[in-house]
Amino acid sequence: MNQTATRRPAAVKEEALLSPIWAEITAIQPEAEGIATLWLRFVDPKVHEAFTFQPGQFNMLYVPGYGEAAISISSDPYHRDSFGHTIRFVGNVTRALSRLKIGDRVGVRGPFGTSWPMNTMEGSDIILAAGGIGLPPLRPAIHYILRNRAKFGKVNLLYGARTPGDLLFTSEFDEWRKADIQIQVTVDRADETWQGQVGVVPMLFYRFRIDPTRSFALTCGPEVMIRFVVFEALARRLPTDRIFVSLERNMKCGQGSCGHCQLGPFFICKDGPVFPYMALEPYFSVEDF
Ligand SMILES: Cc1cc2nc3c(=O)[nH]c(=O)nc-3n(C[C@H](O)[C@H](O)[C@H](O)COP(=O)(O)OP(=O)(O)OC[C@H]3O[C@@H](n4cnc5c(N)ncnc54)[C@H](O)[C@@H]3O)c2cc1C
Repeated sequence: MNQTATRRPAAVKEEALLSPIWAEITAIQPEAEGIATLWLRFVDPKVHEAFTFQPGQFNMLYVPGYGEAAISISSDPYHRDSFGHTIRFVGNVTRALSRLKIGDRVGVRGPFGTSWPMNTMEGSDIILAAGGIGLPPLRPAIHYILRNRAKFGKVNLLYGARTPGDLLFTSEFDEWRKADIQIQVTVDRADETWQGQVGVVPMLFYRFRIDPTRSFALTCGPEVMIRFVVFEALARRLPTDRIFVSLERNMKCGQGSCGHCQLGPFFICKDGPVFPYMALEPYFSVEDF
């Protein structure tokens, strides 16, 4: 596999990966129906100080009596006061997380996994393509770009959700646009308030030009969307080692021991979740890979 994605930060100690460490909920930000961002701070100030992550990495969040779920870190990696997880409340653990209040504690293991190749992409144009809850894993990359704007070329964000009410982080879009990030948004189903695009995310590739010699594409979202985003990127001659995909699979241990998240030779928890498409290509040709 092409190792342009970066690895776990050196600051992370092994014990943080094996047993959950308590963090307190400092704020809860509702984002859309059934989705909120939980802001966390480790109870032990030394642990908090040592905690860093790379854009694209995830933590295992633990609620006693319910278990653990893999959740991407959705906040600015430079924001050291607390870290955010944007969660869709779908099942056992995430619904338990939805019932917690400010001041409650959550067990955290992590950060796990590979990250978006921020250093490698310096000097290049970037296309970020996200669907629904696929935007939170890309938001730390957006923050990284905002903090280092001069190091990147043109940046295009292509984002879609089922309905206008499902769109995340829209209150930040003006700030992102001010930093010359071009944002194109689409929804599957409009309502009476919606005046923008209706359709799927890959369709947004038709609305701007890509220079394949100097671009990277990063994508996260439903797998069917990822397939078509990759298709559009390849159709514009983007090389397979410059298309990066973040995959989600049912996870248990988070460190390549249990095999729950295996895809071919890869464990998504430790070889991913971020992969260069070059590594995934043989599996993408299989239906329901
Ligand atoms: C690397 C990685 C990063 C992730 N990042 C995030 C994140 O940032 N935010 C987030 O909300 N989730 C994220 N997920 C997904 C999350 O881990 C799963 O949704 C997890 O199953 C939730 O645990 P649970 O116990 O609440 O649900 P479970 O009890 O495991 O699932 C309950 C039911 O919900 C269904 N389900 C699971 N996920 C979804 C979904 N996304 N949409 C609709 N139905 C679903 C399952 O098929 C099952 O039927 C990530 C997963 C991975 C592997």
